[in-house]
Amino acid sequence: MNFVIANPTGLCFGVRRAIEKLELALLENESVYALGNPIHNPKEVERLRGLGLKVALRIAEIPDGAVAFIRAHGISRGEYGELKGKCRVIFDGTCPFVRNVQKKAAELDREGYQVVVLGDLEHPEVRGILGHIAGEALVVKSENRIYLPCPCGKIGILSQTTQKEATLAALVSKFVFLAKELRVYNTICRATIERQEAVKKLAESVDALVVIGGKNSANTRVLVEISQSSGLDVTWIESAEELDEGWLRDKSKIGVAAGGSTPDWLVNDLTAKLEAVGSRRL
Ligand code: SF4
Repeated sequence: MNFVIANPTGLCFGVRRAIEKLELALLENESVYALGNPIHNPKEVERLRGLGLKVALRIAEIPDGAVAFIRAHGISRGEYGELKGKCRVIFDGTCPFVRNVQKKAAELDREGYQVVVLGDLEHPEVRGILGHIAGEALVVKSENRIYLPCPCGKIGILSQTTQKEATLAALVSKFVFLAKELRVYNTICRATIERQEAVKKLAESVDALVVIGGKNSANTRVLVEISQSSGLDVTWIESAEELDEGWLRDKSKIGVAAGGSTPDWLVNDLTAKLEAVGSRRL
């Protein structure tokens, strides 16, 4: 058995940058409070907790004078103001691409557009984007569920950075017939698109695919969906220990893909395990 790794795969620029900032904060301070899980990967969060990371689900849980960390998904304007008011230092890991979506949403809102966000209302990145506009945005998960709250003639569409381009295109084509004026920002991140394309390509040449990444990671879920849609046998694991060797038994060529929030050390553990299984079969 051999294996091939999707290229590119794993940590994206924004998450790598955020982790580096957090590691620096932890090096300089005994404890650092992240607002929400700093990365959608439970194994990596466990490692960072060992270095002094505390995860606060609400700002009220962060003690006055603490050192705070903002994850790559960003936060709302209101939350930023609150953190500034109570924390000694803030390490801001907001990905510059996410910040761009926040700015574009604010701009559309200011210019009188009904803002439409393609994304998941529960996702922190989307909540952060909504927190940068004064008006009411419409959040849609797919092109099939559209309810316009007002007969607004000007509609501005943008997307959570990890959505699929095909869904954005379908959404835009629907709104073309609903709006008098339509402005669209394709804010889907290149890193996301490249990882999705790499998985599609890899799926054409392997017997099965292992996707490694947090079960709470939106971009990892999309990689799994893409792999499954190719008809392949796909397994989604968070760490190498979860990989069932029995599942590998009848397969000769395995594809490996990692979510944009999966750290290198978890991918390395997985490839070491695959190498070990492969060499036992020789
Ligand atoms: S997927 Fe793109 S936008 Fe999101 S954190 Fe990574 S680089 Fe930034």
